[in-house]
Amino acid sequence: MIIIMNSQATKADIEAIESRLADFGFKTHPIYGETKTVIGAVGDKRRLSMNQLLMMKGVENIVPIMKPYKLAGRELQKTQSVITVGNTEIGGNKLTVIAGPCAIESNEQFTEIAKRVKASGATILRGGAYKPRSSPYSFAGLEEEGLKIMRSAGDEVGLPICTEVLDTREVDMVASYADMLQIGARNMQNFKLLREVGKHKKPILLKRGLSSTIEEWLMAAEYIMSEGNENVILCERGIRTFEPSTRNTFDISAIPVTKELSHLPIIADPSHAAGIAKYVGSIAKGAVAAGADGVMIEVHNCPEKAMSDGEQSLTPDMFDELIREMKPIADAVGRVL
Ligand code: PEP
Ligand code: MN
Repeated sequence: MIIIMNSQATKADIEAIESRLADFGFKTHPIYGETKTVIGAVGDKRRLSMNQLLMMKGVENIVPIMKPYKLAGRELQKTQSVITVGNTEIGGNKLTVIAGPCAIESNEQFTEIAKRVKASGATILRGGAYKPRSSPYSFAGLEEEGLKIMRSAGDEVGLPICTEVLDTREVDMVASYADMLQIGARNMQNFKLLREVGKHKKPILLKRGLSSTIEEWLMAAEYIMSEGNENVILCERGIRTFEPSTRNTFDISAIPVTKELSHLPIIADPSHAAGIAKYVGSIAKGAVAAGADGVMIEVHNCPEKAMSDGEQSLTPDMFDELIREMKPIADAVGRVL
């Protein structure tokens, strides 16, 4: 980092900064100018409080040189991460297609959807057994019963399964069924939950928070990775804006931006972004064109009867058509679908 001293800073002020930085193991290199001095400082700033340094006499500003997300960022790992989930990989040449209902409602419902999406080309099944609903009166999922249904359907069709975990106390149990754990948008900054899933080896699909910046999202990934689990996959699912015509606003720019800043794969979730089934396909195709490593699509065999997110769910036929429409786009950007 570079510490910029103000024009009133005395030699004693500069020495005090250097001595404070030395206490934290930093090497300092002051450059004395005509009116101002800047101090280059090299070291590990994890234990150092920038705010306290800023409060010291004579300091005008501090400019960090390295990004705060060391493990999630590209500065220390240049190559793209490819993450294994069951019998498939996310982040390689092949596009990932995660599909399934918002919630697991019954064995018949989930197994039928699983068979249909697999036949169309899905590579991972999704479904919620623990649902974070906006209303306390809405269906909140079948809980462990739902996980059992999901596991057996996944095994039957031969696809890995991804499901959300809401509570630190349930991480071990959910991980004993699932191949990939989802951290939902509402929990992106539930730091205890992030640390808990970080202690596991199962891959984590980390959704972007409803109103989170890309840096906050990458710092959430850093929480998980700093506990030892480097298998993190980002998922852009739309953010809150002033635009009411869709449920959220799909941030297409998040794809190239996170690709530049991070080596982690990124999946697009056009279903929760759009909130309306007829817009899902266009957003999915746009995301593939923009370089997403895959898509996550909500599919229901009878959307009008779905117990959650029916309005945004595609029927199996619509999903099949979307996969066919995505193929030439995948080809054009050099991905296999
Ligand atoms: C979901 O995937 O069903 C879900 C609840 O997503 P989000 O956390 O993005 O709202
Ligand atoms: Mn949903």
